[in-house]
Amino acid sequence: GTDINVENLEFTYEGNVSFALDGISFSVRKGEHLAIVGESGSGKSTIAKLLTGQIKPQEGTVSIGGIDIYSVNGESVSDKVSIVVQEPVLFNMTIRDNLLLAKADATDDELIECCRRASIYDFTQTLQNKMDTIIGEKGVKLSGGQKQRLSIARAFLQDRDIIIFDESTSALDSENESDIITELKSLSSGKTMISIAHRLSSILDCDKVMVLKDGRVVAFDTHQNLCNRN
Ligand code: ADP
Ligand code: ADP
Repeated sequence: GTDINVENLEFTYEGNVSFALDGISFSVRKGEHLAIVGESGSGKSTIAKLLTGQIKPQEGTVSIGGIDIYSVNGESVSDKVSIVVQEPVLFNMTIRDNLLLAKADATDDELIECCRRASIYDFTQTLQNKMDTIIGEKGVKLSGGQKQRLSIARAFLQDRDIIIFDESTSALDSENESDIITELKSLSSGKTMISIAHRLSSILDCDKVMVLKDGRVVAFDTHQNLCNRN
């Protein structure tokens, strides 16, 4: 069945004159992998924010598992979709507490396992004491790559039915990226997945590709057909 159904979405950011999204419709079936590609500013992140209930569309509907997510409170959405973002929100507290935001009752063993899968080697090698490291403004500053890995570890902890990856491996070096991609594939097997990227070349094995330009869909096809066309 259909897992995500988006119809005629329109969104304009406050104070802007032009649409960030202008009449976007698409659907994703259960277990399918959709890639959303497009240049910077084409509207990719805005779609991610609408799917996770962070912003509300001026027009159109988003339904997940048959439920219109804007006609109910946000709770039911947030327990179905997890998102791995480029710049995750991390708080000025320990690594453990940042991870526990994703799953409050996780055991230390679970946290360590998820860190391992997200290739946070340095955290897992010295275990407990690293988990107690305070990060952020008043603590240890993490690199862009480290932050992304923490965001990925949180997605492993949540283990939800729908996962959105919003440029989530862009700050990783290629060695880390390939390790993580292997793990991400196992995380997402059997799940509905949306991957967002600038270029088609950074997307692996997707069923369909939606190409955006200036807030509109300019192509919607299989990866192979799009490659043959170019
Ligand atoms: P992408 O993810 O493809 O780079 P975005 O969805 O971030 O694109 O942006 C789509 C459009 O909305 C762009 O024109 C961008 O400048 C604008 N935009 C994005 N975020 C905001 C914001 N918080 N306030 C105002 N305009 C925004
Ligand atoms: P970026 O690609 O954003 O510059 P990296 O993730 O490659 O950052 O990491 C930068 C440095 O931090 C590297 O020298 C790496 O060994 C170190 N590092 C990576 N992960 C961790 C970690 N979990 N804890 C401590 N140091 C780390």
